Amino acid sequence: MDIWDKKKRSEVMSKIRSKNTKPEILLRKALFAKGYRYRINEKKLPGKPDIVLPKYKTVIFINGCFWHNHENCKYAYIPKTNTDFWINKITANKKRDKLNLQKLTSMGWNIITIWECDIRHRSKRDVTPLVDAIENTLSNLSKTFE
Ligand SMILES: [Zn+2]
Repeated sequence: MDIWDKKKRSEVMSKIRSKNTKPEILLRKALFAKGYRYRINEKKLPGKPDIVLPKYKTVIFINGCFWHNHENCKYAYIPKTNTDFWINKITANKKRDKLNLQKLTSMGWNIITIWECDIRHRSKRDVTPLVDAIENTLSNLSKTFE
């Protein structure tokens, strides 16, 4: 049995989905401090990327493990009630993700995906390795622009 009833479950799930979670903000601030300029939640682009770095033609998605079904991740579970509903929902999400990534790629965007489980427990100091990894990716990309 699910520990929550249907109403509580969707409440919990909507919190998991919420944008502007703390680690996400920490990551954005760290990027900004490094001189990166970005737009957030760009609605005009497929999939509404969380962070858009126009200069690098790069988008960053910060994916919730539950909603985007992160493979082999403990947060990507299927709730034990309304199982069919969740399977359908998550399958549809995955399908849509794939389509959005294809669209972005064909538009010439580079895509960086960060998973919630890799960021959710990070403090300000801990965000550094993540920022380093992003910088690394970006500097490799920028070579192709020069
Ligand atoms: Zn995960």
